[in-house]
Amino acid sequence: MRSRAILTAVALLIAPGGVLLSQLRAPAPAPAKVHEAKVTVLSSMLTDSVGVGEWGFAALVEVDGRRLLFDTGGRPDTVLKNAAELGVDLSTVEDVVLSHNHWDHTSGLVTLRREMMKKNPRALSRAYVGSGIFLDRIIPSGVSGFNKVTMAEVKRDYEALGGKFIELSAPREWIPGAWLTGPVPRTHPEKNWSPGPKIRDVVGDLVEDNVPEDQSLVLDTDKGIVVLTGCGHAGVINISEYARKVAPSQAPIYAVLGGMHLFAAKEESLRWTADKLKELGVVQIMGAHCTGLQPVYYFRDRLGLERSACLVGAVGATFDLKKGLAVGNIAQ
Ligand SMILES: [Zn+2]
Ligand SMILES: [Zn+2]
Repeated sequence: MRSRAILTAVALLIAPGGVLLSQLRAPAPAPAKVHEAKVTVLSSMLTDSVGVGEWGFAALVEVDGRRLLFDTGGRPDTVLKNAAELGVDLSTVEDVVLSHNHWDHTSGLVTLRREMMKKNPRALSRAYVGSGIFLDRIIPSGVSGFNKVTMAEVKRDYEALGGKFIELSAPREWIPGAWLTGPVPRTHPEKNWSPGPKIRDVVGDLVEDNVPEDQSLVLDTDKGIVVLTGCGHAGVINISEYARKVAPSQAPIYAVLGGMHLFAAKEESLRWTADKLKELGVVQIMGAHCTGLQPVYYFRDRLGLERSACLVGAVGATFDLKKGLAVGNIAQ
């Protein structure tokens, strides 16, 4: 009985041409896509009728029923208060992404974890960071505006509250179709960061801190790729081009959202950036935080976008994959 069963099984495995079925390639499964996505700004410079503005960035990301908090604002309690005013419950969010080490993105983490864990012990308990975020930053004398909160302090206090950091040195799929880039290769010489801090290189020499850990979120959607940046220190073009390598579809970039650190960019660099964004296929832009205001309007003109498709991201502003951008009254 047993040997007959084995013979039958072998016969079933052999296709008419004598090829084992197991050797026939099954069609590769289509890469996972994001179907529904919404991004709500919780910290940025401008605000509308709800919430307060600050130099900082944070956004709630909702993707196919899962949620994450991308950056945590520039003051300990801004996101806590803005979320409450906007009716956003962060106690059911377990994942946080810190785009990079700067205080204007990390200052809310400990407060938010402390407050939200009272309702849900798992709230905001995992923080994804890019490799390099814990490097010591040396601030030369006379340089100000950095290190209001250091990552060493954030790490100490967050871990004391049971939070765990997950350090990425390569891209990681967060949920199907949604990717964290980890550190982004600096292909083009975009210098979209404020000079000042130094880090030590592999031989111990002090070199300029180019924020090597800077990471973004990439959504591979039916409409194309959506990119969410914190400050975009790796350069919005480096990030967007890398997003097309990270997302399996390699589709054109549909939308770029978040901080792009272009507020002080010269006309020449804005023109180059705008033309590259156009080449990449971008049709929706929400420039928040350090993007600055004028660069958003420059992109609108240079890319030939409608007013409704290229806007400043104020507190409470939303991007919805199906409905587009909604930024309130003042930020249009
Ligand atoms: Zn920054
Ligand atoms: Zn920033």
